[in-house]
Amino acid sequence: MRIYTGKGVYGAIAIGKISIFSRQQIAITKLHIEDIDAEKARVQAAKEKSIAQLQEIYEKALKDVGEANAQIFEIHMMMLEDDDYNDSISDMIESKHVNAEYAVSVTAENFSEMFASMDDSYMQARAADVKDISNRIIRNLSMDAESENAMSDKMIVCADDLSPSETILLDKDKVYAFVTAYGSSNSHTAILARNMNIPAVIGVGEAFLNKIKNGITAIVDGYTGEIFVDPDNETLERLEKKQAEDIQKKKLLLDLKGKENITLDGTKINIYANIGGVDDVKSVLENDAGGIGLFRSEFLYLENSSYPTEEEQFNAYKKVLESMGNKKVIIRTLDIGADKQVDYFELDKEQNPALGYRAIRICLTRPEIFKTQLRALYRASAYGKLGIMFPMITSVSELIQIKEICDIVKTELSSDGIAYSEDVELGIMIETPAAAIISDRLAPMVDFFSVGTNDLTQYTLACDRQNSKIESFCDTHHEAILRLIEMSAQNAHKNGAWIGICGELAADTTLTETFLRMGIDELSVSPGFVLKVRDKVRSIDLSKKD
Ligand code: PEP
Ligand code: MG
Repeated sequence: MRIYTGKGVYGAIAIGKISIFSRQQIAITKLHIEDIDAEKARVQAAKEKSIAQLQEIYEKALKDVGEANAQIFEIHMMMLEDDDYNDSISDMIESKHVNAEYAVSVTAENFSEMFASMDDSYMQARAADVKDISNRIIRNLSMDAESENAMSDKMIVCADDLSPSETILLDKDKVYAFVTAYGSSNSHTAILARNMNIPAVIGVGEAFLNKIKNGITAIVDGYTGEIFVDPDNETLERLEKKQAEDIQKKKLLLDLKGKENITLDGTKINIYANIGGVDDVKSVLENDAGGIGLFRSEFLYLENSSYPTEEEQFNAYKKVLESMGNKKVIIRTLDIGADKQVDYFELDKEQNPALGYRAIRICLTRPEIFKTQLRALYRASAYGKLGIMFPMITSVSELIQIKEICDIVKTELSSDGIAYSEDVELGIMIETPAAAIISDRLAPMVDFFSVGTNDLTQYTLACDRQNSKIESFCDTHHEAILRLIEMSAQNAHKNGAWIGICGELAADTTLTETFLRMGIDELSVSPGFVLKVRDKVRSIDLSKKD
């Protein structure tokens, strides 16, 4: 047994198998093969596996984004059955005695060149698809038994660090924990782990990755930040017991379902939940959140390989709104840039991406993207209680421009005869010191504020939220941050707006009383924290002097 230590960012315990996250492309080597039949059988098995995977993806897409958008996976399955494509692979193995990986990769090149040279734009688009399906076959061919075992279930994903676009593509049903060599508590990997209610340990150091192997059993203790690799029986028993007690403790909180978020002296607050996608709604409802206070819509962009269409977005937003019934859903518009990079946006590399071209700055300079999202949002508003929130605001003029674009979108929808709700609330994130300082000017223009403490902390304290080295300088309880929140709350209320907090600090129960005393109207937290915060609220007595 070996023990490693990092910083736990979500308290839970997981026991599973190490799966090392790899970014490496599979290198294709040309090999001479004697047993042609065995090689062809390998291709057949990999193809069948690919079809089964695509069928699963198709069904998920059908549920999440509708038939029109799921169709592409049906096309991929059909392409995998195409005779010309399959004959080309078999012929090459037979006539040239080459390995399956090589035959698939040459066939992919030939077919994709052929499609790309066609006049018909539909056929040209198939060039990327044939590469995509071939890569899938190659991946399935190259998966050895050990990696397969590590990927099969209960994965403890170990990586140097994980970007949001990498985490979004992981099969979340199989991920039991994250362990990263670098990373910080406010990174999106940490946020995702909290959203998924699984332990994550960050900052274990680079050496860790060189010392572990796929498929080995490990235990992650998100409370202590310890990872036990190849645990001995005594440790396994001790941690299994701790895990059972932890689950039991969390179950006790379930008694709070259906109860009010009310202090002992009768002050009420809304407790909402943060989500990153349609699938998270289940957990929101299970944890009895009063609404959704932050839907990070950029995850729809991160999980796609090209711009999600208006229809795709509309389906996702509508689904969330319908599932939430008459509970409020606040969807934040695209917050791409900084640590959330999406290839097809083709953003330039920047020296200081957190201070650069991100979020509303992209939306206001690329209005076609912004308008597509707003059209989808307003269309979806007819199906529930929607609030739209804008990230990274620093000035009044940005807000004026945003509201003008919203008006244009609504006018266009009306003239197209498309229904939308007239009661959509508009709000902004208070996540820059500038927004908090001019909150008296911004408040009259909106229905609500939502404080993004993750970014507000990074910008106020000049502490890069991705940099684990400076975490000790990054005091989230710093007086400057609390004063900015209080100032924003006062300005919101003076102008008839409500104010919530949707950054990670909202779940910090050592501050719940402070936030209540400031008059914060809503706290939006990872679904797994809703009942814990409710428990805290119900224990507070504001009539007692603080
Ligand atoms: C925040 O900055 O606090 C926030 C909620 O947004 P994100 O973490 O997605 O930047
Ligand atoms: Mg933010």
